[in-house]
This record gives sequence, structure tokens and C-alpha cells, in this order.
Amino acid sequence: MANLLDNFAYATVPPHAQAFRAEVRDFLATEMPTLPADVRARSWMGFDAGFSRRLAARGWVGVTLPQEFGGAALDAFSRFVLVEELLTAGAPVAGHWIADRQSGPLIAKYGTPAQKAFYLPRICAGEAFFCIGMSEPNSGSDLASVGTRATPAADGGWRLNGRKIWTTNAQNCQYMIALVRSSGDPQDRQKGLSQFIVDLSLPGVTVRPIEDLTGDAHFTEVFFDDVSLAADALVGAEGQGWEQVNAELAFERSGPERLYSSIVLLDRWIEVLRDSPDASRHLATVGRFAAHLAALRHLSVSCTARLAAGESPVIEAALVKDIGTTFEQEIPAVISALLGEDPQADVDAELLRTCAYVSQVAPTYSLRGGTREILRGMIARGLGLR
Ligand SMILES: Cc1cc2nc3c(=O)[nH]c(=O)nc-3n(C[C@H](O)[C@H](O)[C@H](O)COP(=O)(O)OP(=O)(O)OC[C@H]3O[C@@H](n4cnc5c(N)ncnc54)[C@H](O)[C@@H]3O)c2cc1C
Repeated sequence: MANLLDNFAYATVPPHAQAFRAEVRDFLATEMPTLPADVRARSWMGFDAGFSRRLAARGWVGVTLPQEFGGAALDAFSRFVLVEELLTAGAPVAGHWIADRQSGPLIAKYGTPAQKAFYLPRICAGEAFFCIGMSEPNSGSDLASVGTRATPAADGGWRLNGRKIWTTNAQNCQYMIALVRSSGDPQDRQKGLSQFIVDLSLPGVTVRPIEDLTGDAHFTEVFFDDVSLAADALVGAEGQGWEQVNAELAFERSGPERLYSSIVLLDRWIEVLRDSPDASRHLATVGRFAAHLAALRHLSVSCTARLAAGESPVIEAALVKDIGTTFEQEIPAVISALLGEDPQADVDAELLRTCAYVSQVAPTYSLRGGTREILRGMIARGLGLR
């Protein structure tokens, strides 16, 4: 246990990133649309291309990307602060979210000079939105079994056939970075997988939105029917897709997005309690949420310090995601139980709508980005048990 716990060295958000927080708050005060809490609670599912482009114009899409490509070249701590402020406010971040966090850094790390010159400035301008094509029917947690296949074509390009599912926001994106099999069989597992940038407007690509429990359609099924990809659609080395995908995971799992999914609901509840004669009954619960958030945030800042140092704390990120999503799921469970205690009470309608929405989506928190059981298996490996 000692080793894993020692990896969470105490770290704080440095002064330059704290100073940046004020700039972000000023921006949000003027540029963020006025939205009710039940819409703001959608934050990282909330698509608003206009907002993403205003953020890009301010220089804050592609925040960690090099300046030569239009990025802000800020460090992981500044990105932490930016994401924390966006989610706390409930800003609609879905447009640029994936490109900023994963696709841009992936292209910057593994892309050819031509790919960098083409995609990165578009990402930083908020013109190119990306989605992640990993999951397939029968290949969710068992990602190494993906069956979508890129076959080499006579012209040096590739023919793509297969199907992806649960792809967040593909209907609003120009590009997908897809993990597909480029050689061998699904039995070859991690070997023979590659990442391709797929232009979703190409002939043979069909994007079908899937409506969820809340009535929103934020994820999709994507079909590839003999799609012709150019040779330069391949990112990084052929057959290295598994290693490349794994390098992304510490970015995907350790950040504020794994702590703040229910924060708009918690905030709204506290706001309503401030004017309620009933508040004293709930002070211990509010205090407990604040204590948990403070501790979790320190774990996330500790991971951020490792990312800022160029490390890839994959196991620690799995731990943050597991406890973080437990916290995010507890908030709607506790608040809805308390609101339901007195059926005669006059409950604030905006709070009720927000609670209903967050309660419906909360089960997804511990699925998206890797399920709880998979993460716990990774943590067990970190403890030398597997
Ligand atoms: C809101 C949302 C957005 C998503 N967005 C995207 C996206 O943009 N791109 C994308 O590619 N995917 C996306 N996904 C898919 C998500 O990453 C997968 O749903 C997830 O990885 C699990 O895969 P699965 O649904 O096929 O479940 P399965 O893999 O079938 O798992 C079912 C259950 O079995 C457990 N299980 C599976 N294998 C093991 C094991 N070896 N040991 C112990 N338990 C196990 C799992 O933990 C889970 O509880 C999204 C999912 C959600 C809910």
C-alpha cells in the first residue's frame, strides 16, 4: 500500500495558475450564456459551438498545445484551473472538450508534421471538434478485442469497415480518432491495433444518435462502410494504437471532470438552503460533501503535479476516478432522498429539475472513461496483486 499512497505527494496549485483563475472567472462572467441550473448541470454534455469558439478566441482551447500551432502553451495546472472553473460554472464544454484534452495532445505527441500543421490550428480555433471511437458492441471494457478493421488499400491508404458505439457527440464533430485493428485478428488482443483520424463527412460514414434516459442524444453509433482513408489518416505508428491509447488515460481520468459532474446540483441545493428555515437539518451533510470534495481535489491536484512533470500516473488516475465518481454519484442520491422526505414541502422547481436530471445520468459517471471494476483491477495491479 505504501508505494501507491506515496505516489500522492502533497501538491498545491501554484500562484501563476491561481492568478489565471481570476481571468477565467472574468471571461465566464461576460461570455457564458445565462442558463438555468438544470441546463448547466449538463456542462460536459452541453454542446454550444458558439461558446467553444468564444473560448478559443480567448486562447483557451488547446490550452496545453504549443503556441506555433495556436495553442496557449499553458501547463497542466492552468488547465486544471480552467476546467475546474468551467465545470463549476456549468459551462457547455462538449464541443471542444475531447479535442482539447485528448485528441490535440495525442496529435501533438504522435502526429506527423503535416498532421500537426493541419489539425492543431483548427482545434485551437474551435473549428475542429473531435470524438473518441474506442467502444464497440462487445468491446467496451475489453477494448483489446476491437473488431473494426482498417485494411491496407492499393493506393497506400486504408479501407475502414466496422462499427463504433457510445461515441459521445459524433453528430457534432468533424473528426473521430478511432482505435481499430490494422493487422491480425481480435484474438491478437493488444497487438495490431492502430489509431486513425476519420473525417466523419467521408462517404460510407453513418452517424446515428442514441437517445438516453433524459431525452438527450449526446452519444451515437457510428458505422463505417468501406470508408476510404488516405495514408495520412494513421496517427503514430501502425500497430502501436494500444500504447498510444494508454498514454491518454492519465489525462482522461485524473482531472476535475471526475469530481465535478454533480457540482451544479450541490451548488443549487446550498443556494436554496441559504434561504430555507430548514437549513440547520442539513449542515452536517453539506459539511461532509465539502470535506470529501476538498480531499478528492487534493488527490487530483497531486496527479496534476505529476502530469505537469511529464509523468503518466495511470494507476493514481484510476484511483481518483473511482473515488471521484463515487462522490459524484452520492450527491444526487443524498439530495433526492432528502427532497423526497417531505412530499408536502414546497420544493424549488429549478432544484427539482436539476436533481431529476443529475439522478438520471449519475449511473454513467462510473461507466464512461472506464468502468469501476476495471479501474479497481488496475489499482490492484498497482498494489502488486495481479
Ligand atoms: C455517458 C457515456 C459516454 C461514453 N462515451 C464514449 C465515447 O465517447 N467513446 C467511446 O469509445 N466510448 C464511450 N463510452 C463507452 C464506455 O467507455 C463503455 O461503456 C465502457 O468502457 C464499458 O463498456 P461496456 O458498456 O461495453 O460494458 P462491458 O464492458 O460489457 O461491462 C459491463 C460490466 O461488466 C464489468 N466488467 C467487464 N469486464 C470486466 C472484468 N474483466 N472484470 C470485472 N468486471 C468486468 C464492467 O465493469 C461493467 O460493470 C461512453 C459511455 C457512457 C456511459
